[in-house]
Formats: sequence, C-alpha cells, structure tokens
Amino acid sequence: MPESPIKIHFFRRHRTPLLLLGVLLFMPPLSLLFQAGTTDSNFCGAWCPRMFFVWREGMTFSQFFLGFARSFMGVILLVGILLSTLFLGRYWCSHLCPIGGTTELGSRLVSRRLKIDYSPVPAPPVRYGYLAVYLLAPLAGLGSLCCNYCNFATVPRLYGAFFTPADLAYFFRTLGWLNLALVVFLGFLARGGRGYCNFFCPVGALDALAAKLGSRFGRRMRLDAERCTRCGLCLEVCPTWAIGLEKQPCIDQLSCLPCGECEKVCPENAIAYKKAAARGRLGRRAETPATAVASSMPGACGGPGL
Ligand code: SF4
Ligand code: SF4
Repeated sequence: MPESPIKIHFFRRHRTPLLLLGVLLFMPPLSLLFQAGTTDSNFCGAWCPRMFFVWREGMTFSQFFLGFARSFMGVILLVGILLSTLFLGRYWCSHLCPIGGTTELGSRLVSRRLKIDYSPVPAPPVRYGYLAVYLLAPLAGLGSLCCNYCNFATVPRLYGAFFTPADLAYFFRTLGWLNLALVVFLGFLARGGRGYCNFFCPVGALDALAAKLGSRFGRRMRLDAERCTRCGLCLEVCPTWAIGLEKQPCIDQLSCLPCGECEKVCPENAIAYKKAAARGRLGRRAETPATAVASSMPGACGGPGL
C-alpha cells in the first residue's frame, strides 16, 4: 500500500503569503510608525535589535548600558525572537523577517541561470567569525560594522527610495552602493535569497544558537537517514545549504531556518518537523544507525548534526 504523504504544517505550506505578510506588516507601516513615534528615520535607534549589544568606538561603560535603554524596543524584539526560537523554532527568520523575506522573495524573480550558489562556502564559520569581528571591531578602532553594513538599514531604504529623497540619496553614497551590492549579490542573486542571512546577520547568528540549543527538546526539521535515498532534491531547494548528503544525510540545526522547502519536495517522506528521538536509559538517543553516525561526526553538516 502506498505510504500517505507527511502532513505539512499550515505555516510551512503557506510560507510565501506569510513572508509577504511579514514584509507588509513590518516594513512600510511599522517603519513609518518608528519615525512618528521615535523620530528615528529608519529601524535605527529604539527599534534596532542589533546595536544595543555592540560596544562602539569611544563608548563609556555607562553609554554602553544606556544603549539597552535607548534601543529598548530592539531589546524586547530580540529577546522575544530568541525565546520563540528556543521553544518553537526559527519562525521569525523563516517566515516573518521583512529583510530576509524581501531578499528571498526578490530572488524568486531572478532567473535561475543568474543565481550564485554559495553552498560550497561553509556558513557557520563565516557567520560566527563575522559576529566576533562585528562585536570586537569597534574595540580595534575599525568602526561599527553593525551600522555600516546593516541590511536592516539598507533594505528599508530600498523601499523608501521610491518615496523620500533622503533614502534615494543614500544609494548615491559609497556606503550605500556597497550595501546595495551586498543585498544584491548575497540576497537577490543568491540561490535561495538568504546568503546575507546565512553569513552576516547578527540576529540570525544568535537566533541560530537559540535554535540549536532548543533542538534538544523542541521540534526541528529532522532528516531520517534510513529513509533517505540521497536523491538531492532537498539540496536544490534549501536556501541556507543546511543539508549534508556527502557523508551521512543530516540537517545542520545551526543553519536550518526552518522553511520546510525540503520537507515539501522529499519523495521519501524522510524529512519532518518533529522532536529528537528519545534518549535511552544510558543517555543515548534511540536513532537510526546512520543518523547516530552523523551526530557523532564533528564537522558533518557544519557541526554535530541532529
Ligand atoms: S529529498 Fe529526501 S530522499 Fe532526497 S536526498 Fe533529500 S532527504 Fe534524501
Ligand atoms: S534544511 Fe529544509 S527546512 Fe531547513 S532551511 Fe533547508 S530547506 Fe529549509
């Protein structure tokens, strides 16, 4: 008897309208509200979920701690994102973030022939290397990378450029060009549209750590290595190249969003959003042998695997 297909959750079945909703909800109306309510000209300031935890050039200790007060909405936003990820998974990044949503939706309009495949570059070392530089650069006098190369500042200005001269003028400055190039090459032209998210987003980097931590007890995208035939269909659609098939099939929880695109295309029902297998009396997981190998193999899927 043919096996019935895995029931895919509403959120992952309808991700495209949810991404659009995230962009509509969080980008134009809220960005205008920020301006009206806080005199900020964009996401910077009270709403920024990044700059309050960065030590910037010339700061005193009191100014650093005052950053938490100044960006109080950003603090609440980031803590909310991390807590929801810990218990529910990275639904902010995969379904709601207006920045990642814009680059991913935009990339779908670009011909496949023009797309750049970044999957040969291992994402976690780049991501956490950048996060470290991002946190330490101001101490070394290199300025604030968090503000200079921020896609949360660039992407809203892309929309704003149609309405305000100030936003348009931004893209005629060197920094504007540079940031536009980052958004174009790591976003719109990246296969899957999530290159910037996967390499350089500090919120994404912290969110990935929360996802990994929560994967011990929460639902995450899991790959059953015994069912997998290594057809490679999931690799083709994964926007964060989180799936490893070279050694043992596995999903890197430090990179999985979870968008659910792999779950939709897998002909073997080998991928599902679920909890990890229960641990046995000796503290070992009751996994399929292949998955157990993947989990104990340092570096497989860019980390310790499932
Ligand atoms: S689509 Fe399914 S069967 Fe094919 S490689 Fe991915 S997990 Fe394995
Ligand atoms: S592993 Fe699957 S759910 Fe995770 S990011 Fe890749 S395609 Fe999306």
